[in-house]
Amino acid sequence: MTTVPPAHRAHMLKSHVYAGFEPGPRVIMLGAVHGNEICGTQAIERLRAELDAGELTILRGRLTLVPITNPLAYARVQRNGDRNLNRNLAPANIPHDFEDHIANVLCPLLADQDVLLDLHSTTNPPGQPFIMLGPQNNTGELLPFARAAEEEALALRLGPTRIVEGWLDTYAEGVKTRLAYADASPSLRARMLSTDPSYGVGTTEYTRKHGGYALTLECGQHADPQAPEVAYRAIRNTLAHLGLIDAPAPAVQEQFELLKLCQVVDRLDEGDRFVREWASFDHFHAGELIGQRADGTPVLAPADGYIVFPSPLAVPGNEWFYFAQASERCVDGLRARVMG
Ligand SMILES: [Zn+2]
Repeated sequence: MTTVPPAHRAHMLKSHVYAGFEPGPRVIMLGAVHGNEICGTQAIERLRAELDAGELTILRGRLTLVPITNPLAYARVQRNGDRNLNRNLAPANIPHDFEDHIANVLCPLLADQDVLLDLHSTTNPPGQPFIMLGPQNNTGELLPFARAAEEEALALRLGPTRIVEGWLDTYAEGVKTRLAYADASPSLRARMLSTDPSYGVGTTEYTRKHGGYALTLECGQHADPQAPEVAYRAIRNTLAHLGLIDAPAPAVQEQFELLKLCQVVDRLDEGDRFVREWASFDHFHAGELIGQRADGTPVLAPADGYIVFPSPLAVPGNEWFYFAQASERCVDGLRARVMG
């Protein structure tokens, strides 16, 4: 931990701002929040080249492009610099690591937006893109929100047809569970990612907390040649839908799938292992054997549902997998179809 990044590290965050002459929403696009997820970087640079060549004009509102949001992680071609930028995101009075420094310049940018589109890619299969949708309108303590309708409308116009909701709620519940077992195991506690419910706050949650709305788009697997195209289409669709550019309104994806994250299960020991190689969105039935704890205790599916973000090598005390179920929530007035 250092308070000042060493000389070989990137020392700044670069953004590009295009302001139209007519009023309109303030929109920001982020690439490479995780340094090895470069589809967003490529798509943003493609758009930037078109804007700079005069092939496309921002007529209304303001567009901010950040092709590389975590320059240290990007330079290292890895997910994180010193830590995950997309957790516990907040300005730090006394920055301890590289991501604290980035947060101090990124957070004011996010707080000054109406809309965030954050472009990611995934390590694990399958490659099918999906959208992470925020909460419904609520006045709760964790993440009060009033712009769900606008967020849903954008989600159905990005292009991809798979949507996942329930991230922050599930994460916060998981932290409570983590605290309970941590009391029983001080050595595990020391290795824990975090016991703070707001640790689940990343770019989208931060933007929502400050008056905007936001979507994370997982564009496919890191190396999928289609991922930059998925990101680029989503960017263009966002600009068209919100009227920043003159373009036909993007199609509404009426045939979409919607999953709600319900539970996060932590890995507790290096000996905890899955019984098979799970991929995100694999279906399982209630009672099906998912994995085995180091002491032989079976880990069973709590109900019919899907596994999401399986992480076979998670550090003990951290998320092993998420359990998800089909959601009944209406999105932009539409109901999801049942997942095949
Ligand atoms: Zn990511």
